[in-house]
Amino acid sequence: MIASSLIDIGINLTHDSFNSDRAAVIERAVQAGVVQMIVTGSNGPSTRDGIELARSHPGLLFATAGVHPHYSKELTVDLLAELRQLATGPEVVAVGECGLDYFRDLSPRPVQQQAFHRHLELAALVKKPVFLHQRDAHEDFVAILREHRATLAGGVAHCFTGTRVELQKYLEMDLCIGITGWICDERRGSHLLPLMAEIPADRLMVETDGPYLLPRDLPSKPESRRNEPAYLPHIAATVARARGVTAEQFSATSTAAARRLFIMGS
Ligand SMILES: [Zn+2]
Repeated sequence: MIASSLIDIGINLTHDSFNSDRAAVIERAVQAGVVQMIVTGSNGPSTRDGIELARSHPGLLFATAGVHPHYSKELTVDLLAELRQLATGPEVVAVGECGLDYFRDLSPRPVQQQAFHRHLELAALVKKPVFLHQRDAHEDFVAILREHRATLAGGVAHCFTGTRVELQKYLEMDLCIGITGWICDERRGSHLLPLMAEIPADRLMVETDGPYLLPRDLPSKPESRRNEPAYLPHIAATVARARGVTAEQFSATSTAAARRLFIMGS
């Protein structure tokens, strides 16, 4: 295995499934060549816990502050005020995850849309990029984002699984693209392979989205089926092959892209 220096831009490291061995998970990631990780905040508790984790691993872990569209119902005035305060912290590198998810509709769509607006306003206020989630809601998502785009300090469409048309729309809006192990799934992710070469190198990043989305083609899969950041090089290698570049080249460009968007120092 060639040494890499990758950044996992989306890992749900506060998830319960990491409670018993979180330190070992972080250590395995570092051993595998993951030099920095951004811990996804998806509601109030995970945002608070993610920031706490980042504070105890300075320079290695960073956090996002936000409420996943599933939890939009929980975005009260008080929580929004708290997020506004938390988002100014130096360990918080983005606002989110935020966006729209019409696949599960766990919060009513109008509530999701309002929460999305509030996040975009917050990101503009604190001048940090947005960490965006979209599933089965492309048109509404683009329409809302377009209203705010000029005020935003950039953003990443995390866990991109869409079509070429959707990709082109995001690139036109000057967004970065986050690719997960979805691309390693020959049943539902192979359409992503030919799209990889269409994304400018300075806008393409990788993420595990662990504990979810364990790459389907891992040579040896853990019995737990839990995904973790140590598997990021496997995902990166798949993207590199699809782009026709070496793993080292891809590691260098994706890490530079992540640092440029999130400004995490070196
Ligand atoms: Zn997401």
